Amino acid sequence: MSHNESGIIKLQSVGFLRKTMGDYFNRLKDAVDTGNKKIAWCTSVGPAELLYSMGFEVYFPENHGAMLGASKIADKYIPSAVALGYSPDICSYLTSDIGAFLQNETPLQKSGFESVPKPDILVYNTNQCREVLDWFSFYAKHFNVPVIGINTPLCINALTPNIIQNVAKQFEELIPELEKVSTQKFDIDKFRETIALSHDGCVLWREVLETARHKPSPINFFDSAIHMGPIVVMRGTTYATDYYKVLLAELKDRIKANISAVPNEKHRIYWDGMPLWYKLSDMAKLFAKLNTCIVASTYCNSWVFDDLDPASPFESSALAYCKLFIVRADEVKENVLEKLMTDFSIEGIIYHESKTCSRNSNNLYGLHTRLFNKTNIPFLEINGDLNDPRCYSEEQSIIAIETFVDQLGSRK
Ligand code: SF4
Repeated sequence: MSHNESGIIKLQSVGFLRKTMGDYFNRLKDAVDTGNKKIAWCTSVGPAELLYSMGFEVYFPENHGAMLGASKIADKYIPSAVALGYSPDICSYLTSDIGAFLQNETPLQKSGFESVPKPDILVYNTNQCREVLDWFSFYAKHFNVPVIGINTPLCINALTPNIIQNVAKQFEELIPELEKVSTQKFDIDKFRETIALSHDGCVLWREVLETARHKPSPINFFDSAIHMGPIVVMRGTTYATDYYKVLLAELKDRIKANISAVPNEKHRIYWDGMPLWYKLSDMAKLFAKLNTCIVASTYCNSWVFDDLDPASPFESSALAYCKLFIVRADEVKENVLEKLMTDFSIEGIIYHESKTCSRNSNNLYGLHTRLFNKTNIPFLEINGDLNDPRCYSEEQSIIAIETFVDQLGSRK
């Protein structure tokens, strides 16, 4: 068992995680080097199952954006995208990713890539935001390849049959172009199989997250933000299910052995919004020092597409990807959060207001005060950003977090 200086006992599965993610990038590299498979770029909550079922290797620019953030180099690249006309106030995944591309640099060069893998097609879903369409359109134009996708209505309250049918039809309408690019015929049985695998991967991921209901929790938000990699980029494959079986078993063992993510868990907090990728390990240490575990988060919970059903692959895809937290009306979001507060025994909420991602900042339209009025669970708002460290005032935030946790102690 390895401890770090904060007394945190590291998850053993991290070795298998590295291998699983390494193998994923090796498969992409093989496709680049040999042309054995076509490459589709996909948004993080886009139709990955359809793409895997049609034989593509699938690359996720948002995963690349997070790599730039976690490598603490995003701010080196953002100015190049700004010089091209992208505002510094829009998605810093987009600006850092396009900026890195313009500077011909990528962390993937350490894994032998010359550049990011060239797409044969780009496929989006605007369920998360419209930015992804602008982002993908830049590359479609650059590489002169098609960009196609699903335009999902925003702020969905009731998931009406009209919405589901419309989005399901949009999933189906992607097929002719995908067949043309992949030179493979669409096979409904293969699609059903991929949907079933994605469902199983999502259920395992949900079970992983749910282990944090246990007091003390064997996992925290900072672990989950790293261990979510396979469900983001490999859902619909056995690579993801194989990984989460191992992680889940380890977490169950930790519960039995009373090993917690935060060595001396005293407080349990919910994190709303994006991670600050460039501060992930500093934050993990800060909260460990404060004996506080972030036991659940909107962000990590977003990859639970357990409505996927091989019996109705298109309708269930539409349902799963429209049910997603980020695409829902505030009323629905409030109810989801309220339930999570009870399920995970939450004492406080931190809202990370991300300067460049309003879609992932849920404190902008009064949700946080309405939820407080219902639950009496105190909250703290932190200003920062997912990738751009210039938007984050660290000293001020640390003082605010320390004070907040201190006040949680006096409420007990
Ligand atoms: S949801 Fe936010 S962080 Fe993600 S791509 Fe859209 S704007 Fe960027």
